[in-house]
Amino acid sequence: MQHRHLLPNEIDLLLDGDAGFGATPLRAHIDECTDCRARLDEARVMADALEHLPHFAPRPGFADRVLCQVQIVEPWHVAAVATVRRVVPESRPLRVLTIAGTGLASVAISAGALGLALGTRLTVGSATVITTRIRDAILGGLQDAVSSVFGAGAATALQSDGALAMSAAAVALVAAVGGAAFGFRALAAASRQRGS
Ligand SMILES: [Zn+2]
Repeated sequence: MQHRHLLPNEIDLLLDGDAGFGATPLRAHIDECTDCRARLDEARVMADALEHLPHFAPRPGFADRVLCQVQIVEPWHVAAVATVRRVVPESRPLRVLTIAGTGLASVAISAGALGLALGTRLTVGSATVITTRIRDAILGGLQDAVSSVFGAGAATALQSDGALAMSAAAVALVAAVGGAAFGFRALAAASRQRGS
């Protein structure tokens, strides 16, 4: 016999006439314990009464009529995840490529915006010194890159009109990365079509 009273779910188990292995100790307890036997009898009366209640059914279309009045507010993070899911392809390698392309594009856009801001000299007061240093640092790095790729002449041209050249370079970089991202998307769409 079980040395504690039965739990509600155990009463339900006996009520359903469960003949499984677990029911045997419960039945043994019911035979010994008047409290639990009374609870099982009560539950049986209740179940019988519910069984004999008239059965109602809603009119056809009830669920649709209720749901069309329910306003579903989509939390911003759910919407954001859904948007990202639509953009990011299903296959794993393409997903990695797209995420890498998107990250590169955002870095390029930030760098371009910074370059444009510095180029148009939107700086006043003490900020001028800092932004000039940032600009010199970025320009220095860009010149090194340009001279190693295109030769010293290109780097000198860059130095002579640095801000304009840097803006153009930033725009070109953004365009290239954007093109690559669209390429990845097209590739992903094509592979999905092949897959289906
Ligand atoms: Zn009991």
